Amino acid sequence: MKLTLWTYEGPPHVGAMRVATCMKGLHYVLHAPQGDTYADLLFTMIERRNHRPPVTYTTFQARDLGADTANLFKTACQAAYDRFKPEAMIVGASCTAELIQDDPGGMAEMMGLPVPVIALDLPSYQRKENFGADETFFQITRTLAKPIEKTAQVSCNLIGPTALGFRHRDDITELTGMLADMGIAVNVVAPYGAAPSDIARLGAAHFNVLMYPETGESACRWMERDLGLPYTKTVPLGVGATRDFIREVSVLAGVPQAMDEDRLRLPWYSASVDSTYLTGKRVFIFGDGTHAAAAARIARDEMGFEVVGLGCYNREMARPIRALAKAYGLEALITDDYLEVEAAIEAVAPEMILGTQMERMIGKRLGIPCAVISAPVHVQDFPARYSPQMGIEGANVMFDTWVHPLVMGLEEHLLHMFRDDFEFHDAAGASHHGGQHVANDAGSAPSHPAASVPKETASGVVIWLADAERELKKIPFFVRGKARRNTEIFATEKGLSEIGIETLYEAKAYYAR
Ligand code: SF4
Repeated sequence: MKLTLWTYEGPPHVGAMRVATCMKGLHYVLHAPQGDTYADLLFTMIERRNHRPPVTYTTFQARDLGADTANLFKTACQAAYDRFKPEAMIVGASCTAELIQDDPGGMAEMMGLPVPVIALDLPSYQRKENFGADETFFQITRTLAKPIEKTAQVSCNLIGPTALGFRHRDDITELTGMLADMGIAVNVVAPYGAAPSDIARLGAAHFNVLMYPETGESACRWMERDLGLPYTKTVPLGVGATRDFIREVSVLAGVPQAMDEDRLRLPWYSASVDSTYLTGKRVFIFGDGTHAAAAARIARDEMGFEVVGLGCYNREMARPIRALAKAYGLEALITDDYLEVEAAIEAVAPEMILGTQMERMIGKRLGIPCAVISAPVHVQDFPARYSPQMGIEGANVMFDTWVHPLVMGLEEHLLHMFRDDFEFHDAAGASHHGGQHVANDAGSAPSHPAASVPKETASGVVIWLADAERELKKIPFFVRGKARRNTEIFATEKGLSEIGIETLYEAKAYYAR
């Protein structure tokens, strides 16, 4: 048992739903207890789809358990086929149904339905949502895709986008346009928007573009082995990665490189003088492995930030994230426990967080600006406007999104200069946050300078004397949390129980060395 309040991923059958919901002509029969239909809301509310997911739930109740739940499944399966007449079906069990072991796959096979029925075996107690999506799409591909003649024009498939994917809709548009600039057609986008008959045509492409390893890698590997389709290894998130991607595609397709640099604004924007204040901003990065890895490269190499924390919640990506973190001189944080993430963020006191919806909450609690770079996300990250993350426009979008929560250079300067101003004082925070307090002074004392409160540190209680507290306030608010913490650690290590001005400066000199 594990006490859990927030989960980064849902159970694997939600991953299967993400595949079913983004496809056409496919129906999912899910053996599940009454109440599991809550998952519909993810698609109709968060992603704002205008139709119910193509999922039939058996919705068994307590009283059904004494009777024949297997028959319930068969009836639901037949009814779903009769009503929706899909080209293919997938069948599986949710966590509770897994316990009663009715074997949906075996039962559906015995029914002799006139369309392919693909059985899903998703271990709900060991694996999670991303695995569920990856495995489901792999099983669909393995069953339906066959070797066929290649298209006359050089073409590729876009693999991995699903329903409920972070910016998948616009990433598809962006990549399709960029590939067209190189004279490469898109054969099939899958699973997003594909029908089972499209899956059968996957083999006609010359190669695959693996957009999201989390949800498409197993299928890409299988297609490489069984259909002879090589696939791209670079995910085009950020300027450097997009350039690498274009190079990789040009080799795979045998066409010259081409990229519309006129549309690309991130490099100049981050080189322009107003971005100078971004240099060295300390960022903590957390999300799914793909987006976290990409964000680290953009943060360091394209925005000039200092990456002070890096991690992911999906253990499938633990190995590459560990290797990458090492290259950044960090130890990777691989966890799906948000309390661990919160503790890690608190410990390094970054000036900014790049994370998921959970980190946005953590940032809010700690008063640290945050931008969202990865699922899980809430409704505001399925925007109406065009907002890709990939490719050229994706880089532009990320620049804006990441810079926005930070205090703009001039305002940062003013906040520091006029910290006693009635309007622009520290505690007022950034004006573009509606005047709310966002100062990064975790655990700060009340604003009255004379009031010093005991500070609990790792190894005891340290008291800030009033003059030291006043002096601390001269440090710009966005680095004050870090200065406070460092001084407290320094004082505790020296065995001091009080912090005066001298201790503050000694600590400053010590850490500057
Ligand atoms: S079957 Fe799984 S997803 Fe459904 S209510 Fe039970 S634990 Fe939740």
